[in-house]
Amino acid sequence: MRHATGVLVIGGGPAGLAAAIAARRKSFSVIVADGAKPPIDKACGEGLLPGTLAALRELGINIQAGDGQIFRRMRFIDGRTAATAEFPGEGGVGVRRTVLHQKMVERAEECGVELQWNTPVTGITQDGAIVGGNSIQAKWIVGADGVHSRVRRWSGLDAGVHREVRFAQRRHYQVQLLTDSVEVYWGRKVQAYVTPLANEETCVVLISRDPAMRFEEALREFPVLADSLQNAELGSVQRGTVTATRKFDRVYRGNVALVGDASGSVDAITGEGLGLSFRQALALADGLETGELEKYQAARRRLARRPHLMARLLLLLDRCAPLRKRVLRSLASDEDLFTRMLTAHVNETSPGFLAETSARLGWRVITAQ
Ligand SMILES: Cc1cc2nc3c(=O)[nH]c(=O)nc-3n(C[C@H](O)[C@H](O)[C@H](O)COP(=O)(O)OP(=O)(O)OC[C@H]3O[C@@H](n4cnc5c(N)ncnc54)[C@H](O)[C@@H]3O)c2cc1C
Repeated sequence: MRHATGVLVIGGGPAGLAAAIAARRKSFSVIVADGAKPPIDKACGEGLLPGTLAALRELGINIQAGDGQIFRRMRFIDGRTAATAEFPGEGGVGVRRTVLHQKMVERAEECGVELQWNTPVTGITQDGAIVGGNSIQAKWIVGADGVHSRVRRWSGLDAGVHREVRFAQRRHYQVQLLTDSVEVYWGRKVQAYVTPLANEETCVVLISRDPAMRFEEALREFPVLADSLQNAELGSVQRGTVTATRKFDRVYRGNVALVGDASGSVDAITGEGLGLSFRQALALADGLETGELEKYQAARRRLARRPHLMARLLLLLDRCAPLRKRVLRSLASDEDLFTRMLTAHVNETSPGFLAETSARLGWRVITAQ
């Protein structure tokens, strides 16, 4: 075990491993320390959008047929109204979180990252951190320790906007409900996010503002979905977590930088958290290479702009049922408009494209019956 490194990454979840791989490709020596051991599971919708797959490829990780289930469409369902649109380009893939983590671990090993599992970090010092009780010196420290980041607190980066927290629970069902689409069901107090996976499995995440939400009870808001899951066996332990939309004023101080959910997050319903983390990790490696972390901070802000905009829109629809019903009716009657919205969600589109799409949506909503 080494006691000095170029980059010490605290947290070996998707963001930490992506940051480690990206830094290693810039020739840094890299250690990752995580309190858990792989493959690390977490409550997640498990949908990798087209941009997420592209960022993974840039990190040298190819999701293959067999790792997951390809989906090409998104469906929004509210009562009897259903709107469907196709993702632009290759579509996305539903991949079990543990499968994704294992692939990322293998890639990190292949790149020469030193991985220390079952090794919690208990503090940072001026030139390193306390890792599993030992002191490790590091030129750069990367906090990738998730939404409740202690690295963020230790380095005084907690100041910022705290927007909205919701509560989520995930189950895997051993049944093939969907083959070609991801579905979002909108209910009175709950949303359901349903993703097809490999091996005829389905991931179901329920999200609510109510911390006391109970899975079975909440699922009854969606009778058709509940019926189709009734006799299916569970494929994993149920997991709960919070999903938050958070922004912080700064994401670095001195030689400490934050990445992934530690640096801020978007609500789970966007399906963008992983893609955003991977793109941040690539930008962070550029910043570490030149020693210009303010450039990383600016790039991170730019990368987060579109997902935050979409999160605001989707959360508004969640809060305001009459508006949501009008929007869904509009999207159901104009597939091309929904396709444009999906394109704006998953791709870097021009401001003109975004403005025209918003104006079209606004007009449709105003004139919807
Ligand atoms: C309900 C839900 C559904 C979602 N669905 C999707 C989706 O479909 N698609 C998508 O792209 N994104 C989705 N997301 C977002 C995505 O899950 C997150 O953005 C992603 O997990 C962020 O990864 P991370 O590595 O930053 O954090 P985490 O995955 O939380 O990893 C943090 C790691 O740090 C370790 N750690 C913490 N403290 C320490 C310490 N002191 N010492 C050492 N190790 C430590 C932990 O063990 C953990 O492994 C969803 C999120 C939620 C909540």
